[in-house]
Order: sequence, then C-alpha cells, then structure tokens
Amino acid sequence: MPLDCVFCKIVAREIPADIVLETNHVVAFPDLNPQAPTHLLIIPKQHIPSLAHVTEMNGTLLVDLQLAAKELANKYQLDKGFRLVTNCGESAGQSVQHLHFHLLGGRDFTWPPG
Ligand code: AMP
Ligand code: ZN
Repeated sequence: MPLDCVFCKIVAREIPADIVLETNHVVAFPDLNPQAPTHLLIIPKQHIPSLAHVTEMNGTLLVDLQLAAKELANKYQLDKGFRLVTNCGESAGQSVQHLHFHLLGGRDFTWPPG
C-alpha cells in the first residue's frame, strides 16, 4: 500500500473513520466534507488508484462495491433516490487516488452535474 494513501490508512485503522459497513473486500464511511445529508464513501480494501485501473483480475469487486451501495441506500432509507458517483482522474476532480464511490442521498440532485 502507498504510505501516503489516506484511504489505505482508514482500512488499516491508522486514521479514524466511522466505518458503517465492512465486508471481506469493501469498507464504507462518511465523507469528511459531506455534500448531501447522507454522503458515504465506499471503497475497496485493496489499493486501486481509480476505476481506470480496475481489470478482470479484480473479479467481482465492482459488483461488491455496488451491492454495498445498494445495502447502504436501504440502511440509510434513501427511498426517494440516491446518486452513486466515482470521480476518475484529474478532469473529473478526483482528489484521493484510491478508488471510491460517493453515495449521496437525502436531497434532490440536479443534472448535469457541475
Ligand atoms: P474525490 O474528490 O472524488 O476524490 O473524493 C474524495 C473525497 O474524500 C472528498 O469528498 C473528501 O471530502 C473525502 N475525504 C478525504 N479525506 C477523508 C477522510 N480522512 N475521511 C473521510 N473522507 C475523506
Ligand atoms: Zn489506498
């Protein structure tokens, strides 16, 4: 794991986060700077820099991440809808270089996003 990766440190419990879901391959925790009443980050335990770096070698990881999102949407009662987003690369504004999905809910969202 890269020594400076904040999400690897959360997985390793080296920096604190309120982990709301943990499976063999996935953890989820609240975003430090929430953009909606519910704003969780869902990440693989394995360090993968972004969606652009996922390969077939990662098996069912993407399914695991999206099923975790669905479970959390149920748990947080996002019955009216939710948004699942991954920012991939510089133009998309990715600021942490460890694959993560944002699960956002609890308000209405506009489209297209900024
Ligand atoms: P992105 O800009 O798509 O790469 O998203 C990275 C997200 O990680 C941002 O929304 C940050 O607020 C969030 N973040 C950064 N550090 C932490 C942390 N230690 N705990 C929780 N969320 C964090
Ligand atoms: Zn990492």
